[in-house]
Amino acid sequence: MNIHEYQAKALLKEYGAPVSEGRPVLNAAEAEALARELPGPLWVVKSQIHAGGRGKGRFKEAEAGEKGGVRLAKSVEEVVANVNQMLGKTLVTHQTGPAGKQVGRIYLEDGSDIARELYLALLVDRGSSRISFVASTEGGMDIEEVAHATPEKIVSFTVDPASGLSDWHGRRVAFALGLTGDQVKQCVALVKILYKAFVEKDMEMLEINPLIVTEQGQLKVLDAKVGFDNNALYRQKDIMALRDETEEDPKELEASKYDLNYIALDGEIGCMVNGAGLAMATMDIIKLYGAEPANFLDVGGGATKEKVTEAFKIITSDPNVKGILVNIFGGIMRCDIIAEGIIAAVKEVGLKVPLVVRLEGTNVELGKKIISESGLDVIAADDLRDGAEKIVKAVKQ
Ligand code: GDP
Ligand code: MG
Repeated sequence: MNIHEYQAKALLKEYGAPVSEGRPVLNAAEAEALARELPGPLWVVKSQIHAGGRGKGRFKEAEAGEKGGVRLAKSVEEVVANVNQMLGKTLVTHQTGPAGKQVGRIYLEDGSDIARELYLALLVDRGSSRISFVASTEGGMDIEEVAHATPEKIVSFTVDPASGLSDWHGRRVAFALGLTGDQVKQCVALVKILYKAFVEKDMEMLEINPLIVTEQGQLKVLDAKVGFDNNALYRQKDIMALRDETEEDPKELEASKYDLNYIALDGEIGCMVNGAGLAMATMDIIKLYGAEPANFLDVGGGATKEKVTEAFKIITSDPNVKGILVNIFGGIMRCDIIAEGIIAAVKEVGLKVPLVVRLEGTNVELGKKIISESGLDVIAADDLRDGAEKIVKAVKQ
C-alpha cells in the first residue's frame, strides 16, 4: 500500500525527521488561508498523487507555458492561482502511464532554499533478505536514469538485522552523499530515524528524492515516497487509516475486499485461476498463443462460491475483456464449487463474451456435469493448452 507525500512527511516528522512546515488543502480557500499562515516568501504547491515525477509531469488540461505538478510560488496570489490550475486536473507523469491521475488534494509547503539535491532510499533487498540503503549525490533526478548512465554514483549496502543499525551506517551514507562537518551528524541522526520508522511501520520502500542540503546547511526531507508491506497491514491500523482508495484501481479495490489476489493488466483475455503459479502459467500460455491476459487473478485455495462469483463479476466489469478463461485445478478447491460459482455469476451479470472452462482434479466430473447441464454457452477444454488455444481462437474470430 502506498500513501501520499504529505502523509509520509507527517509520519517521518513524528519520528523526528526534518521536514518543512506544510499541510494538505482541498480547495483554493484553504490554500489561501494556509499560505498566509506559512512564513513565505517562497511556497511550494505540490499535487498529491501516488506517483513520482510530478515536477516534470504535465496536466492534460494545461495551457501553453503552464508548469508541472510541483510548482514554486512567490506570493499568496500565485499559490491560489496554481492550486486552481491543479485541483481536479489530470496529471500525467512517467509513472502514471498515459491515462494520468486526477489530483484531489494539494500539499502546500513552506519553500526551501536548496544548495544540494541528494538521493536516499531504504528498501527490502530480497536477495539478502535485509534492509538496504541506497544513496546518491544525484538527487532530484530519475534514479533509474542515474543507475543506467552513471551507476558508480549510486552507493548501496545492507544492514545485518542481527547486529542492527549503528552510527557507522549513517556515516557511510554521509560519506556517499559527500557530506562534511555538522551535516555528517545530521545524516547519522536521520539514518537512524528512517531505519526505525521503516522497521516499526513495516515499510517496503522509503524513498527520499530529493534529500536536500539547504543554503543554511541543514539536511531536509523534501520529497518522500513510502510503500508498506500489505501482509503486515493487519498490525498497522494507523497506516491502514491513511489508505486513499481513490488512488487505487477500482477492480483491484473490489478484489481486495474479497481477499482475491487480483492485478489488472492491459490485455483482452480475463483469467480466473487458482494458485499463483498456475495463474502465471496461464498468462504465459495465453501469450504463447498470441493474445494478452487482461488480469492476474488467483482465487486462492479455499475459495467459496461467493468468492468465485465476485471474481467473475470483477473480470466481466472490465470493458477490455473480450473472452474469459477459467483454469482451475481442484485440490483443496473442489471443481463443483467453482462450477456453481461460475453459474451463479453468469446468472447475475450475464455473459457477453466467450467463456472457456478447464477443470481438473477433485470432483472434476461433477463440476463438468453441473456446467453442461446449466445450459450456459460454455466452451469446455480438456487441458491447459486446449483451453488457451480455444479462448484465443474465440477472441480472435
Ligand atoms: P517529484 O517531481 O514528484 O519527485 O516531486 P518533488 O517533491 O521531488 O519535487 C520536484 C522538484 O521540485 C525537486 O527536485 C526540487 O527541485 C523542486 N522543489 C521542491 N520543493 C522545493 C522547495 O522547497 N524549494 C525549491 N527551490 N525547489 C523545490
Ligand atoms: Mg521527488
